[in-house]
Amino acid sequence: MSQIILKNGTVVTLGDNNQVLQDHFVSIRDDVIEKVAHNKELADFKIDSDATIINASQKLVMPGFINAHMHYYSSFARGLNKAAPSNNFTEILNNLWWRLDKKLTLDDCYFSALVANIEAIKKGTTTIIDHHASVNAVKGSLDKIAQAVKQSGLRACLCYEVSDRDGEAIAKQGIAENTEFIQSINESNSDQLKALFGLHASFTISDETLKQAVLAAKNCQAFFHIHTAEDLADQEITLEKTGKRVVERLYSAGVLGDKTICVHGVHLNDSEIDLLKTTDTMVVCNPQSNMNNAVGISDIVKMTEKGLLVGLGTDAMTVNMLEELRFAIWSQKLKYNHPGVGFMECINALINNNAKIVRRLWDEKIGELKEGFKADVILMDYSPPTPLDSQTFAGHLVFGVSQASVDTTIANGKILMQNKKLQDLDERQIHDQALELAQRLWSEF
Ligand SMILES: [Zn+2]
Repeated sequence: MSQIILKNGTVVTLGDNNQVLQDHFVSIRDDVIEKVAHNKELADFKIDSDATIINASQKLVMPGFINAHMHYYSSFARGLNKAAPSNNFTEILNNLWWRLDKKLTLDDCYFSALVANIEAIKKGTTTIIDHHASVNAVKGSLDKIAQAVKQSGLRACLCYEVSDRDGEAIAKQGIAENTEFIQSINESNSDQLKALFGLHASFTISDETLKQAVLAAKNCQAFFHIHTAEDLADQEITLEKTGKRVVERLYSAGVLGDKTICVHGVHLNDSEIDLLKTTDTMVVCNPQSNMNNAVGISDIVKMTEKGLLVGLGTDAMTVNMLEELRFAIWSQKLKYNHPGVGFMECINALINNNAKIVRRLWDEKIGELKEGFKADVILMDYSPPTPLDSQTFAGHLVFGVSQASVDTTIANGKILMQNKKLQDLDERQIHDQALELAQRLWSEF
């Protein structure tokens, strides 16, 4: 039994009834939040003789952030300048991502995930929903990433992106990799790891492969994680090949459902949004990535109004969820050409909906700082220069906390970083090994 006491902090609970509690302490016992109360109650509270006591004075104590769409495998693309210039989204895929994912080895997958997880710990992101591709190292790739996740101490939901873009044999390997990994996760009942069945995107998957993937997923009671209408090309190619729009096709195939994540949703029409709503499918938007690829802006405001569960991901642009939040807000204002639009919808997507998405996948109390919830907790350096309470928190989050440093990161009750020092991972050593692997990869690119 281990106990951590975080005292003298300003506790932010998040959740539907977000509270900002000044001068409070938090007790974590093993992997669960045991108590949240005012500091004056600390004298009568049972503290173990070997408890770890952390002074959270001048700090916000809040739930760790959640990144609801990520690609670990893109870590080695940082600085790579050998890709030919691209004029549109499909050229970006062809010139960069679909060249990179062919070069990845199992070691690359492992180190890419470790590198991204180090960054995540530093940015206070404690849960990541990842989407993986390594075309010539499919088998065993999810186990390699899982190993990196376990080592880093974070939570992650993994999948392999099935696609026909590299031929039938690779597509079949992708289906097998998802199936084997999902079965192992179902048997392990892991706190840290979950799995979805990964599909790249409608426009790179044939009817036959889609049928086989759905069949395989149903056999292991799995739901899906798929890029959906990210670029207009997904709609155009799907329509031309199948006579259906993307979401209609996914609906007919049996892909949608309350644990399925449709990513991006930039080019959806009203009937597709209705189908996502009817099936209670989750949507994860990645505004920063969409701007970077110039594919358009997803309508977070409209999807929220229609009652969809809309979350936020970074699509591997960063692992910094407060940076993504800011882009999300600006994107909606620009889309609507109105400065009063989108602020609360985007805040809600990050601090409430991402937690709801994770709770659907984990079936555990995650994402709020309340008694009985899993202990995914961060401390951020923040001394408010203007009044901070539950009414003003959103503005502080976007314009102040987003510029603050993360001091301490705790996931599943384990301290991963304290006083800005990683506890178990040797960053320099991991980066040295990553550097060697990246150099080899780049030399073959
Ligand atoms: Zn993506």
